[in-house]
Amino acid sequence: MTVKNNPWDRALRQLKSSSRYTKLSPSLYASLATPDRIVEVSLPLELDNGEVKVFQGYRVQHNNIRGPYKGGLRYHKLVDISEVKALAFWMTMKNAVIDVPFGGGKGGIAVDPKLLSESELEKLTRMFTQKIADVIGPNKDVPAPDVNTNGKIMSWIVDEYSKTVGKKTPAVVTGKPIENGGSEGRTEATGLGGTYTLLAFFRKLGENPKNHTVAIQGFGNVGRYAAYFLQKEGFKIVALSDSKSGIYIPDGIKNIDEVQRCKEKNGLLSSCYCVGSVCDLENKEKLGGKDITSEELLKLKVDILVPAALENVITSENASKIRAKYILEMANGPTTEEADRILKERGITVIPDILANSGGVATSYFEWYQNIHNEKWTKENVFMKLKDKMEKAVDTVFATHKKHNVSLREAAYIVALERLRN
Ligand code: NAD
Repeated sequence: MTVKNNPWDRALRQLKSSSRYTKLSPSLYASLATPDRIVEVSLPLELDNGEVKVFQGYRVQHNNIRGPYKGGLRYHKLVDISEVKALAFWMTMKNAVIDVPFGGGKGGIAVDPKLLSESELEKLTRMFTQKIADVIGPNKDVPAPDVNTNGKIMSWIVDEYSKTVGKKTPAVVTGKPIENGGSEGRTEATGLGGTYTLLAFFRKLGENPKNHTVAIQGFGNVGRYAAYFLQKEGFKIVALSDSKSGIYIPDGIKNIDEVQRCKEKNGLLSSCYCVGSVCDLENKEKLGGKDITSEELLKLKVDILVPAALENVITSENASKIRAKYILEMANGPTTEEADRILKERGITVIPDILANSGGVATSYFEWYQNIHNEKWTKENVFMKLKDKMEKAVDTVFATHKKHNVSLREAAYIVALERLRN
């Protein structure tokens, strides 16, 4: 990582530049420029073979002016403190933009979970939970899934935390499986929220989704549901990639669920050229498809590019080669500042992460609310509320973008800072 692309430095520059439009008191500015609390723990894990390996775990509580800290837990070998601080800062901003009563937090463990057995992963998660139990809780700090974490991991956290505090406490995390206190619709929420966001923008711009082509980098929770719901709304998904491989079908990838099933079965996206329920390499030619790398996907001639994997993938090296008209940032921090500047000069519209992917945390708020009030909402109700939240956020960000003649990203930060100030 170059110093320039250090995520925390980028977050600080974003704070500085957007505060030009919103007068913050010196103490609020200073508190946003410094996380409230940083917890770093060592996790000595006894592996199945008896060996002991020590992993580092982090929880950063950035700011809680608007409510309990809230943000995901990431398991990835590249997790480091600068990244976690930046992600926590972005959560403070995002929660303000989507207007939920939460502050910002984030956490993670520097580990490649794919190299651990399930029992090792469970032990590691439980140890991490014990070590951060004092600082989390339904009214203190509420983690959720992020890259490489999921409902099962959230359930282990609930169980371990509940044992520690002596009472069942599902509201300590969100993103739980439904049978364990999760909300209907939470799994799909981030991808669906991105779809609502794009549709709301298209309505403002007088664009019609039909036949707009889309390439999606990252086919995990977010990318998969973004693909599914965008397609349902008439967009044409032509390319998908993940960390190992990718597929490109210019005429459109017809059945996203089938591709998902195939990937789960075979482990490789590039074996998933599907016709009906048959997915195999023989279909590749039939469909006029070809394999594609994640980097090539970014440069495809499509209308909409959706980065839905990790940060810093759109950089000064590739920004001038991007041919999409719109970028819907579903990952957190996918565009470096230098790239952002190049995209702006080239007239490419970027719908920023803190707005585009905020459907996840909006629905986490719904889940937390249901847990606290002992309610259970239907999926239709959750989706309706999510749509309303996303459309309101788009309206506010768009109006601010027009008012100050700034990019949508700057506008989203201005909206967030104004809410944090009040
Ligand atoms: P996930 O672990 O379910 O999926 C991540 C995907 O990215 C996987 O398909 C992985 O193979 C792929 N990937 C990793 N490196 C890649 C690379 N170099 N090129 C292409 N693909 C690559 O994680 P997720 O929950 O889908 O999160 C994806 C992004 O969305 C992250 O930036 C995360 O912070 C953000 N996000 C997630 C949520 C949520 O609700 N899960 C909410 C808001 C933002």
